[in-house]
Amino acid sequence: MSKRVKIKHLIKEGQPGEKVTVSGWVRTFRQNRFISLNDGSCLSNMQIVVDFENMEESIIKSITTGAAISASGEVVESQGRGQRIEIQAETIEIHGLADPDKYPLQAKRHGLEFLREIAHLRFRTNTFGAIFRIRHSASFAIHKFFNDRGFYYMHSPILTGSDAEGAGEMFQVTTLPLNDVPKTEDGEVDYKQDFFEKATNLTVSGQLEAELGALALSEVYTFGPTFRAENSHTSRHLAEFWMIEPEVAFCDLEDNMNLAEDMLKYIIQYVMDHNREDLDFLDNRLQQEEKSKPQHQRSPMALIEKLEFCLANDFERVSYTEAIRILMNSKPNKKKKFQFVIEEWGADLHSEHERFLVEKHFKKPVILYDYPKDIKSFYMRLNEDGKTVGAMDILFPGIGEIIGGSQREERLDVLLSRMKEMDIPEEEMSWYLDTRRFGTCPHAGYGLGFERMILFVTGMANIRDVIPFPRYPGSAEF
Ligand code: ATP
Ligand code: MN
Repeated sequence: MSKRVKIKHLIKEGQPGEKVTVSGWVRTFRQNRFISLNDGSCLSNMQIVVDFENMEESIIKSITTGAAISASGEVVESQGRGQRIEIQAETIEIHGLADPDKYPLQAKRHGLEFLREIAHLRFRTNTFGAIFRIRHSASFAIHKFFNDRGFYYMHSPILTGSDAEGAGEMFQVTTLPLNDVPKTEDGEVDYKQDFFEKATNLTVSGQLEAELGALALSEVYTFGPTFRAENSHTSRHLAEFWMIEPEVAFCDLEDNMNLAEDMLKYIIQYVMDHNREDLDFLDNRLQQEEKSKPQHQRSPMALIEKLEFCLANDFERVSYTEAIRILMNSKPNKKKKFQFVIEEWGADLHSEHERFLVEKHFKKPVILYDYPKDIKSFYMRLNEDGKTVGAMDILFPGIGEIIGGSQREERLDVLLSRMKEMDIPEEEMSWYLDTRRFGTCPHAGYGLGFERMILFVTGMANIRDVIPFPRYPGSAEF
């Protein structure tokens, strides 16, 4: 057999007369003659023509949807429509059979819910192939974006003994026996006997550690898994998701917004440049789906149109105070159509409000900034007014919050009094406070939820469909 070539390469470069081998999984086999083979390198299949009179019958019988095969032969110009070239098979090797009576994927469109139940096989569908190729591209783009700008990729810990951020949303990590937990004299869990000799959790964010890195390396970013034990059953929350958290020294809130907007546009552009076939497929798929919806529920833009729109326009930058004014004057608020009606300045914004601002009012991505300090975290920098902090959230159409960030409080005294207000024990945070004691400087950063970004660029509706093996309440399959 000749050397294996990937189908993506062959489609682009293959010339009639060449001898090649392709390997992959059979999508369809028609008339005992035409195999559609997919190897995951691209959405398109390679057509392989079998001369069934000169091929062993046992081999012909084994070529069923889902079987893994290698086919060797000559590249020829395709007689049929839809492809430039095909392969005239000389030999076919069967690697793995797929019993057609048992193989769950048929050559028809399956529902996403069903495919979630067979997440171990859904990679083999066009839709999930496209999603996971795009997911790869987007993560590569993120590394490239930061690397090109001189940021260092920093690995923040996944097991953490600090719980300043997570309050109540953290997964505990322990090697203590759950059915016989050692207790102290006061009846508390005796963590001294636990693996780390203290209570530990899975991280909810790498930010605090990234700050330590930034205050020496100037510009760092993390890109790792984060965990939240929140009991949310929404289409935007996972218990395990990936987060990108840049942290930049000598940077204020505006620089931070600029960095975030540049990064989001860079990722979109990269995917447009490198995954066009997959995007076209998903765009098409979405348009089919939209047709079955009533008019008023259809989205105003097709997928690629939406991505292009996002690239071509500046994000709208609006202060929280202005956003509250808009929301209080809005129809759904006045008619009490919101589940949480906005009564006054200081109210926390829910997804319904964020989506109103993005989808109905501004009709473009929005950056909200300067939030009331009482609804934000202790480390965000207090503004001159003493009421708001230098926070910024980026809101995207169809999704809501995609990024949360802030300028950090670099002034030790202000930080300490904020921690006191919010009951965050100083002793446990001394390592964090040391950066403010020694050589503190203005700095800022943000967290991008990777899966929410993938939702946006793929146009998928449910976050469980853009990560290979979703974890959510009641489910940690595979
Ligand atoms: P939300 O209000 O949507 O729950 P959050 O305010 O809890 O978000 P942050 O703590 O600011 O979010 O986290 C930064 C980013 O991480 C968010 O902007 C979002 O993109 C993403 N994110 C947060 N929680 C989840 C989750 N459970 N699953 C997936 N992505 C998440
Ligand atoms: Mn949340």
